[in-house]
This record gives sequence, structure tokens and C-alpha cells, in this order.
Amino acid sequence: MGLEEKLPNGILLASVEKLVNWTRKSSLWPATFGLACCAIEMMTTGGPRYDLARFGMEVFRASPRQADLMIVAGRVTNKMAPVLRQIYDQMPEPRWVLAMGVCASSGGMFNNYAVVQGVDHVVPVDMYLPGCPPRPEMLIDAILKIHAKIMDEPLGATRAAALAESGRTTDLI
Ligand code: SF4
Repeated sequence: MGLEEKLPNGILLASVEKLVNWTRKSSLWPATFGLACCAIEMMTTGGPRYDLARFGMEVFRASPRQADLMIVAGRVTNKMAPVLRQIYDQMPEPRWVLAMGVCASSGGMFNNYAVVQGVDHVVPVDMYLPGCPPRPEMLIDAILKIHAKIMDEPLGATRAAALAESGRTTDLI
């Protein structure tokens, strides 16, 4: 007979890792900033029609120190890149990054000297969302995929090791 069958009803068993990850994904707070047209869809997603509050993340924080999700909503210019990196550096660990739209993911149609050809040249990216612009439903789907990813992440030093192993770049261009 397993341990769970011996214990009386009403006792919840879970690993600490799962419990911590559940609290993290249930209160993911995005940093407040938008870069271009994709930001309009991001703002719509935060409105009453799409109700991000369902996922514990209606609070877009004005301070990066209180945010753990960066939604890069729009193209990143080379001039803006150091600012974006500074905001990222000010966010406490653990933190996650969502590249929203083709411009943030790869530069999109702006294949020129002024625009960063993918925000992963500036910060490590956890989720790439295609579209120009992605609809709010697509953004919510990407956020839910980040939630699922968070649930599977190891804690502490092992998380840092896992990130390093994934080969994601953290170099500022
Ligand atoms: Fe604008 Fe489209 Fe680029 Fe988003 S992906 S910032 S909507 S041009």
C-alpha cells in the first residue's frame, strides 16, 4: 500500500519544487512597457475582454524590480537595446522573457541596420510568439505555455545550470 493510501483524506502531497513553481506561475507579473504596434494587442490582452486576471497576472508592474515576466511587444531598435537589457537586469530572478511578434523574435520586416534582428541577441528568450501582430488569444496561449514551462523547471542552482545548458545567449549586442 502506498503512502498516500495510508494517510487520511484531505492531506495534500506535493514536492516542494512543484509547489514553488505553482506559486510562481500563478502570480506572473509582467513589466510595463511596450515597444511598437504589438504593444496595443498586449494592452488589449490586459483589458476586461480577455481577463488576464484569470491567470493571476493582471498586475503589470511599473517597476522591473517587481516584475518577473518581460513581454517584448514590438521591434527593438539598437538604441533601445541597452535600455531593454537594463530593465531585464533590474528584474529579480527567476524571470522569463516572451518575444511577442515577428519583429521581437527575428526583426521581422525590419531587416535593416537600425533594428535588432531578434531580441535574443540582447536577453535570453523563453518563448517566441509568431504573428504580426499576434492576437490576444495567441498571447494568452504563449503565456500559458510559459506557465507549463515554469511548472517543469528545477529550483535554485539547478535552474541556472539548466539555463546555461540550453545555450541561450545573454550577451548584450
Ligand atoms: Fe508591429 Fe507587426 Fe512588428 Fe508587431 S510584429 S511590432 S504588429 S510590425
